[in-house]
Amino acid sequence: MNAVKQLYELQQVDLEIQKARQALQDISNQLQEPDALISARIQLATQKQHLEEAEKRQQELEWKIEDIQEKIRRVDKSLYENTAKNPRELLNMELELKSMKHILDKDESHLLNLMEQAEGMQDEIATSEEKTTSLEQEWQVKQHTLSTQKSVIESRLSGLEQQSKQMRQQTSPSTLKLYQEIKSAKGQAVVQVEQGKCQGCRVTLPLGEWQQVKAGKIVQCSNCGRILYLE
Ligand SMILES: [Zn+2]
Repeated sequence: MNAVKQLYELQQVDLEIQKARQALQDISNQLQEPDALISARIQLATQKQHLEEAEKRQQELEWKIEDIQEKIRRVDKSLYENTAKNPRELLNMELELKSMKHILDKDESHLLNLMEQAEGMQDEIATSEEKTTSLEQEWQVKQHTLSTQKSVIESRLSGLEQQSKQMRQQTSPSTLKLYQEIKSAKGQAVVQVEQGKCQGCRVTLPLGEWQQVKAGKIVQCSNCGRILYLE
């Protein structure tokens, strides 16, 4: 194999390496947990916290209602047993009873509201839990697929790197240096010649250059400096 063909093939391998590395980078980006799943988890946690707070308020109100009921029972009992010492005390007891019954009505209706709200929250939580679970399952399937792809590409990449290393060892240091320099400057070091034109810059080769390329020598395009390769 002549030196130019060897260099061209090394370039093909290097391009494959570049593609494989890019693919691995893409996969690693995709392996980040999806935003939708993160938001769903946050939403669920917030809803659960709200429910907990509502249940706490409900519990406190229930205790308050029990207290009032107990007080009402006591005053009722006193009235029934007629323990008032005078009409004024009797009147006060009746007023107190009325006021407590009023508070009790208000608290009971508030409690009903809280219970309804809590029920609504529980429904929302159930929906969010379903959504989160389904997103988690989707994510697991995707992760599995990506991991499989990743290991296939990794093993291909390590083969390519090995190949590139061997090809470099078979290339003369000066040729390799030239290849690296053009590659760094232009991205592509070796270009094909088609219909007498350099495919790097599209300029027609002078006859002398063309003949040297045909002879399999390492020739740089006099216009763009890339190494010319004729298949
Ligand atoms: Zn050129």
